[in-house]
Amino acid sequence: MGSARSVDIGGVKFGGGAPVRVESMLKTPLSDLDACVEELRVLKKAGCELARVAFADESHKRALGILADKSEVPLMADIHFNHKFALAAIDCGVSSIRVNPGNMTDSGGLGKVLSAARMNGAVIRIGANGGSVNSAQNKKYGKGARALVGAVEEQLKPLIDSGFENVIISAKSTSVPETVMANQMLAGKYPFVQHVGITEAGSGIDGAVKSAAGISVILSQGIGDTIRVSLTGDSKTEIEVAYGILRSLGLRKKGVNMISCPCCGRKRVDVGALCERVKAMLPADVPDGFTVAVMGCEVNGPREAAAADIGIAGAEKGFVIFKRGVYAASGNIAEMEKILPSCLREALEIAGREKYFDISPNATVR
Ligand code: SF4
Repeated sequence: MGSARSVDIGGVKFGGGAPVRVESMLKTPLSDLDACVEELRVLKKAGCELARVAFADESHKRALGILADKSEVPLMADIHFNHKFALAAIDCGVSSIRVNPGNMTDSGGLGKVLSAARMNGAVIRIGANGGSVNSAQNKKYGKGARALVGAVEEQLKPLIDSGFENVIISAKSTSVPETVMANQMLAGKYPFVQHVGITEAGSGIDGAVKSAAGISVILSQGIGDTIRVSLTGDSKTEIEVAYGILRSLGLRKKGVNMISCPCCGRKRVDVGALCERVKAMLPADVPDGFTVAVMGCEVNGPREAAAADIGIAGAEKGFVIFKRGVYAASGNIAEMEKILPSCLREALEIAGREKYFDISPNATVR
């Protein structure tokens, strides 16, 4: 499912049956153009499909234009308060902007922005975060999800009234239940492309778990077209976690699918060290969906390992390697360094010859 409507940002389709897209936001300010270019390069390599960039100073218009020109990832300029920044972003070739019509200080500004967006085919994202909902909105709509939805609708109304529907909408809070409910309410009322995420989710494992909990519940209901994992930390990790979520839901296959047992007293090999060893041996262009299984022992190991492109299971005398369910090799631990690389190379060759798709064939949503 996902949204019925779709938008195109820099040649990438969002909604309307497209795969769930993965976004991030540059952590680097536009004042450091070289660092922005480098961050975008890293994001592109990781699989980022839309990068938001804070545009908070009109003197950075030139830098934004250069970035829009150079970037292989479509950009979305993030703007608050001043509609002139939105006009400047569209003028210098940025294909989407994120604005809050409610906090534009010039009452005539929105009309000018909509005209410019219309003329240039730019997409406008509007939306509310828990932190942007004011006390009047809380009082009017009731707190939590209803206030979030009310705040989104206040921003959406002038766009719909103007006949501008090239939009992405979002409702995000730091509360998972609140965000889930707000997204359900919006999806039930509007056909627009929906951006999904848990805002200010935190850092490290906490942030990843909170994001996964919220985003997964929403996506599994067929809601949402593009996601951002908002983490305190580097933007590449946001992309890695986002694809991890999509892989877990069977919606995308990007990257390697690692399966490993949690280990217990029966383990015959150091599973953690072996996972890291195998990951380090994988090439940068590893086929999407390539599945590696590392199992500690012979109890469940061979069966789990056999289902993978390459599976390694600990065994009484050392280890056993399977390729797509077929026994490939075995040996003692000392022989691992000699045997594993050639088995892995063969498994990669087999996978590379086949047509691998980033989109899972099990994806029911898109
Ligand atoms: S595969 Fe073996 S070592 Fe790993 S958790 Fe299962 S029983 Fe324990």
